[in-house]
Amino acid sequence: MKIYEKFNINVVFSEDLIQKRISEIALQISENFKNKEVLAIAVLNGSFIFCADLLRKINLKTTVDFVLLSSYCGMKSQYKVNVILGLKENIKDKNVLIIEDIVDTGVTLDFLIKEVSFKKPKNIKTCVLLNKKTSRKKNVSIDYSCFVVDNSFVVGYGLDYNGLFRGLPYIGKIEGSLSNE
Ligand code: 5GP
Repeated sequence: MKIYEKFNINVVFSEDLIQKRISEIALQISENFKNKEVLAIAVLNGSFIFCADLLRKINLKTTVDFVLLSSYCGMKSQYKVNVILGLKENIKDKNVLIIEDIVDTGVTLDFLIKEVSFKKPKNIKTCVLLNKKTSRKKNVSIDYSCFVVDNSFVVGYGLDYNGLFRGLPYIGKIEGSLSNE
């Protein structure tokens, strides 16, 4: 028995569907950035699996850097973003692709776009796995989005609940209580 099977997780996006959609997005990115080099900036921790799959499907010269930001606590978004690990790459005049797991209020992505803009890249595009449109506080520009989700809390494929569930190959909703942890 797989360890997560004892939890009641309702699958929202299956492993196959996620991989198929990432292939489509990777193709669009490869065509739009044709003959250009791209610096991917992935937001840890949530986007590490998405970033790994996406970059392996993009047919371009890519480099990658990671930032670790925190704005969530349990199941609640906080409106203040903390930088725990910052950018290491020089991004001046580069084509930047920000990779984020999920945009909810938009506060995190808005913060990162501003931080990156200060460093004068050639341009900034954003790519998100999940777009939760209903609780937006900041009007952020999303160039590539894999799926739209409703306002419920989802886990899996990099997304966690208190650090757990990131390793699930699919995205789902936890139904009921987590008391049998
Ligand atoms: P925002 O700043 O847009 O409100 O939130 C972005 C961050 O909140 C994401 O990077 C992610 O870590 C977290 N987040 C938002 N919604 C969810 C969700 O449904 N599930 C999980 N696991 N994290 C979420």
